[in-house]
Amino acid sequence: MKKRSSSKTAKCLCGGIKIKIVGKLRHVLNCHCSQCMKTHGNFATYTNSPEKNISYISKRTLKWYNSSTFAKRGFCTKCGASIFYKIKKSDTISISAGMFDNPTKLKTQSNIFTKNKLDYYNLDSRIPKFKKYNK
Ligand SMILES: [Zn+2]
Repeated sequence: MKKRSSSKTAKCLCGGIKIKIVGKLRHVLNCHCSQCMKTHGNFATYTNSPEKNISYISKRTLKWYNSSTFAKRGFCTKCGASIFYKIKKSDTISISAGMFDNPTKLKTQSNIFTKNKLDYYNLDSRIPKFKKYNK
């Protein structure tokens, strides 16, 4: 799918973390892996951007949790929002799509890690699904 060209802001519930992003955002991946389920309390909805395109308007409540040897997750220490997923060696960063306001101009691109999906919800059959990762 094509990426979107835009400049937009995104923030957590309390506003302690607020970012501005220039350039293109990837469309949204719904991640059903067990780590996202545990961190977000449900499946995660991530867009993605080159990290250099992000500037912090505020990050006073941002903290990072090393969720594995190769990845970390950024969250707000005040309101508890789960915001970022970052593969440490990557120059991109995943951003929770719920941080944005309408119109996001994003679409849901696919469901990933559906092998870990829990049984209480159904997937939209119109959206491609992958057992593991797929860009
Ligand atoms: Zn917050």
